[in-house]
Amino acid sequence: MAMSPHAPAENPSTPSGYGFELVVQHTLERVRGDTSGELAGYIPELARVDPERFGISVVSVEGEVVSAGDAEVPFTIQSISKAFAFCLALEIAGRDKVLSRVGVEPSGDAFNAIVFDPHTNRPFNPMVNAGAITVSGLIAEELGADAFPMVLDRFSAAAGRSLSVDEAVYSSEAATGHRNRGIAHLLTSAGALVADVDATLDLYFRQCSILVTASDLARMGATLANIGENPLTGSAAFSVEAVRATLAVMFTCGMYNFAGNWAFDVGVPAKSGVGGGILGVVNRQLGIATYSPRLDAKGNSVRGIAAFRELAEELGLHLFDPTNRGSAMLTAFGR
Ligand code: GLN
Repeated sequence: MAMSPHAPAENPSTPSGYGFELVVQHTLERVRGDTSGELAGYIPELARVDPERFGISVVSVEGEVVSAGDAEVPFTIQSISKAFAFCLALEIAGRDKVLSRVGVEPSGDAFNAIVFDPHTNRPFNPMVNAGAITVSGLIAEELGADAFPMVLDRFSAAAGRSLSVDEAVYSSEAATGHRNRGIAHLLTSAGALVADVDATLDLYFRQCSILVTASDLARMGATLANIGENPLTGSAAFSVEAVRATLAVMFTCGMYNFAGNWAFDVGVPAKSGVGGGILGVVNRQLGIATYSPRLDAKGNSVRGIAAFRELAEELGLHLFDPTNRGSAMLTAFGR
């Protein structure tokens, strides 16, 4: 049985007394003062964003939306695209073919590590760059010139509006992404990448440069939480089986070499990107997104992690938390 929400506050310092909107607002305010971390500098264009931006958005599978701060400021999706591209690849290429090219094991290594599973000679998982480039290669192999239009179409269906690419970020990464280029050539020599290297990287850099806001990402997360169907538009973006597989890999690998700590403390499938976004999914309940571009040494948003920790604690969102009242609270407050 879902717990009933708290009654309106007697004590204004207790955010849980106020309802969902104030939980989100208070989380933003409590975390805002942390200005530690650095902008992602290795893609030159990403170092030009305003470091102060901070937004949180939550969307339920019933279609309720609660946002605070800079939830409508666009930024590039970066590695959060890896989760949705994997979801699409499973549907297009089929599970067996996908799993013959990329594993589903946490690597414990940095997102851009040049390391493959020594037993299979395949990338460890689709959430690190090597695995994500493999997945983009599979989509390119299956769809040719239709690959990026299909990616953009599905991401847009999940967000519930037409998304576009930040051409400046795309060009910046295409011009400087030598490490990813190196990874792609190694993947080709290992047999994990069959499609043309240039076509694969073009797709990968473009998908990473798709512009989203925190509220777009929260809707995309709510689409995953709603087993592939956007709860606000009713349009189906992803297949049910692919969503289950994607959430599982997000849970074990989505935060790179921080995935274990994240599963321990926050406990929801999630994916971060060096653009400053983090997307979390409370299965069958909520999509939650944060945007704050200062990153820690592992490439995860500092304030994003802190905000998710607070929300998970406040709302009991952890997968194994018996007091989970996230969407029940949101619904009960009539948002
Ligand atoms: N486009 C970035 C890269 O490949 C994405 C990395 C990330 O968001 N962690 O380097």
